[in-house]
Amino acid sequence: MAESISFFEQVNRNFDKAAALTSHHPDLLTLIKNCNSVYHFTFPLQRTDGTIEVIHAWRAEHSHHKLPTKGGIRYSLSVNEDEVVALAALMTYKCAVVDVPFGGAKGGIAIDSKKYSVQELERITRRYTFELVKKNFIGPGTDVPAPDFGTGPREMAWIVDTYVALAPDKLEGPACVTGKPIAQGGIRGRSEATGRGVAIATREACDVAEDMQPLGLSRGVAGKRVVVQGLGNVGYHAARFLEQAGAVLVGVVEFEGAIHNPKGLDLAQLWAHRHETGSMLGLPGATTLPSREAGLEIDCDILVPAALENQITRENAGRIKAKLVVEGANGPITSEASEMLAERGVLVLPDHFVNAGGVLVSYFEWLKNLRHVRLGRMEKRFEEGAFRRILTAIEGATTKHFSEGEVADLTHGADEADLVNSGLEDTFVTAYHRLREIRNQHREHADLRTAAFVDAIDKIALCYGEMGIFP
Ligand code: NAD
Repeated sequence: MAESISFFEQVNRNFDKAAALTSHHPDLLTLIKNCNSVYHFTFPLQRTDGTIEVIHAWRAEHSHHKLPTKGGIRYSLSVNEDEVVALAALMTYKCAVVDVPFGGAKGGIAIDSKKYSVQELERITRRYTFELVKKNFIGPGTDVPAPDFGTGPREMAWIVDTYVALAPDKLEGPACVTGKPIAQGGIRGRSEATGRGVAIATREACDVAEDMQPLGLSRGVAGKRVVVQGLGNVGYHAARFLEQAGAVLVGVVEFEGAIHNPKGLDLAQLWAHRHETGSMLGLPGATTLPSREAGLEIDCDILVPAALENQITRENAGRIKAKLVVEGANGPITSEASEMLAERGVLVLPDHFVNAGGVLVSYFEWLKNLRHVRLGRMEKRFEEGAFRRILTAIEGATTKHFSEGEVADLTHGADEADLVNSGLEDTFVTAYHRLREIRNQHREHADLRTAAFVDAIDKIALCYGEMGIFP
């Protein structure tokens, strides 16, 4: 059953709940909440068969309190103005929670990308970029898109190529978009960043015994039964990192249906099977459930909805069996369903913290593009030399002799992937414990979602205050 309020209203309902716990001026809160600008445009596409189609596209810049604005571009039939604005707002709060100095934005094109050839998708993407350039809705210092549902490095490569072709003299041109392939100025670790962040957030939550105890769960992620909805960019990597941390993947929900194995599914085997047959259904050892919806209701400890918004609604919230729900996707739980889960004591890790790994590493990519140098390029060898000298000094002063393996391990200098992962780990661990603290301060009135909103509102308010607006 559809929820009675729009997606943006749902985001604002969560905002209002948190705003009530702060003491900011009501006009300032209205200023923060509203979307600064939305651009809706249409353009014609001549399909390969000669027919003409009108394509509807959007870009919303929710908050200009910091520039550039930042947020993905999604290709999906469900894209509309409300969705784009709501997602842009979530980006504003997400950037604030993980201290990324951007305002929030989001773009979208209302197409089912599976129904277009690669050449048609390229024409759509390039024309979309051209229209954004015309209106100054893209640029390294104005608005920087990234991948989202239905898009990936390929689309980002078309975007950067179009942008740079239109502004060939702009030295910082490649910083106009993130999530690019490495050869186009992308950064190592970006594709798996969101999923990695989801897994780190889950691990941090599971490591707090005090929070696990009311859920009837033991401390630690190892052995916990996990269900993932959506094995795309976010869901696949989240499943992979959770599996590596010792969790057991007992169910997967995808476009073609849901599968279940209480003893555990092997992700690599599932991936190979899907690649070979075009579907994960029929995987040896797994049961196919009667519907996709049933997949969300599998008996498990952790549910990671990582496909789309509005998946857990007031209609199915009562049947969710997971004790911990980790919002890999944006807005997968409606505000009504959120309240129902909270009443049942389910712990929810909110989207605008949990899936912020993508925008965080996008920030690192943007910095890399502005600096024109790969992270770690100048330090790596120097660090390795320094570590080697320390080991030699230790050997000289003691009877210790380091083996070749130990030397290689102990003298490894940080390369780009190491630095990206270190930044991601540090940001997530710090942010999670800050959100817990805020929640604990307001325990009667706040869950982690409200805490994340309080954190974001306070930081944005501070920013406006420093500009002399409601100081
Ligand atoms: P994606 O296109 O890579 O993957 C989405 C997956 O969901 C696909 O495998 C698709 O087949 C599956 N799917 C579609 N409809 C489904 C349904 N009804 N039931 C089950 N599965 C379904 O997209 P993504 O980039 O992984 O994004 C997923 C979600 O995460 C979105 O809400 C997006 O806004 C959010 N997100 C993505 C990123 C990122 O870095 N990619 C960052 C933050 C948030």
